[in-house]
Amino acid sequence: LNEKLQGVFRKLRGEVKLTEENIKEAIKQVRIALLEADVNYKVVKKFIDNVQSKAIGEIVLKSLTPDQVFIKLVHDELVSILGSHTSKINLKPNPPTVIMLVGLQGSGKTTTAGKLAKYFQKDGRSTLLVADDIYRPAAIDQLIVLGNQLKTDVFYDKESKNATEIAVRGVDQAKKSAKDIVIIDTAGRLHIDEDLMKELKSIKNAVNPDEILFVADAMIGQDAVNVAKQFNEAIGITGVIFTKLDGDARGGAALSIMEVTGVPIKFVGIGEKLDAFELFHPDRMASRILGMGDVVTLVEMAQEAIDAEEAKEMATKVGKTGLDFNDLLQQFRMIKKMGSLESIMKLIPGLSAMPDLNVDDKQFKRIEAIIYSMTPEERKKAHIINGSRKKRIAKGSGTTVNDVNKLIMQLEQMNKMLKKFKNKFGGTNKFDRKM
Ligand code: GDP
Ligand code: MG
Repeated sequence: LNEKLQGVFRKLRGEVKLTEENIKEAIKQVRIALLEADVNYKVVKKFIDNVQSKAIGEIVLKSLTPDQVFIKLVHDELVSILGSHTSKINLKPNPPTVIMLVGLQGSGKTTTAGKLAKYFQKDGRSTLLVADDIYRPAAIDQLIVLGNQLKTDVFYDKESKNATEIAVRGVDQAKKSAKDIVIIDTAGRLHIDEDLMKELKSIKNAVNPDEILFVADAMIGQDAVNVAKQFNEAIGITGVIFTKLDGDARGGAALSIMEVTGVPIKFVGIGEKLDAFELFHPDRMASRILGMGDVVTLVEMAQEAIDAEEAKEMATKVGKTGLDFNDLLQQFRMIKKMGSLESIMKLIPGLSAMPDLNVDDKQFKRIEAIIYSMTPEERKKAHIINGSRKKRIAKGSGTTVNDVNKLIMQLEQMNKMLKKFKNKFGGTNKFDRKM
């Protein structure tokens, strides 16, 4: 079925738009991919409905199928959701910045405390680790070992039975020794319980942390969502650190956690070692969750190829007959699509020499309006646009005769430049040679 369909779509060459009908199969695939990646089913539904309604009507590039285009849209939407918040740690102007790590037992809090300390050390900042998991002596020792390894101070008191008091003393100590950052490693439980939440709340109220980071084990999948939700409701979290992404978890819980808590993912743990730690990258996570990286790359390549093809066609035409307003319109569109003037300058010879081509959205709309108010003949032959035509065009586009004049002059200037360029390079262009 798919091959046949692909053939049909290819024949239509870019005339296809995404419809509910022609992305049915893709939606099914995406749904399965997300569920397999441990995204909560409610989140999946909401997410897909949302992308679907945005996607309908989008044009399908030739050489691609609607399915492929849809999957790329899904990917982009994932990236934008995952990366829609700033994800750096908020450092206080007057130190110490207080970071509190919370999460279930075994999620990776203590390891992450060490990783964070190392991360900040690389940035030239001093850290103090506070051993606030006071119930297990081994937990305190674990942090002391990390501290030794990192040559960073660890505050602990094996006699104390009061986690809140330890946290307060730890922060005081950091102030006294002028540390930039205090990282409080708290206790966890295998399951959420009242006592734990009470203790964490009490610590929070006592030291007023700048960040409360929820450490989530990617391996526990969907359950992470409920846990995150409960921690967030009980104490309020400011960010998430996702650990054990070096395993084979697809990480879909990341999407659910963000959706459910509205809190950004700040870092990911990718191994047991202290440097197996990095800032969260929305695009990598999106590819991992969707597991359809090949399609995404394919679509990106096709998009580039289309842009290149258009640019080449234009370059050839321009070389022969010069630019008219239709070309100008198309060029501005390409500039918009490719995101920057620079990327298109590489493709069209002579364009780099062009003055005033940097159009912002408002300018572009005005230029578009002016060109649309021209007759087809005027668009092709700028020289026939006399005074009364200019007035008509200005009126039709809601601009002034001055605006119309400026645009006509710009076109003339470009054509002059192109002529110069052509003479200099004997008609062949950079682009042809590059191919
Ligand atoms: P805590 O109970 O929350 O303090 O968790 P720990 O920091 O003691 O970590 C529990 C286990 O998970 C330890 O064996 C860690 O080495 C391991 N761990 C933590 N982070 C990662 C990670 O990103 N990748 C892998 N593979 N293991 C990790
Ligand atoms: Mg621990």
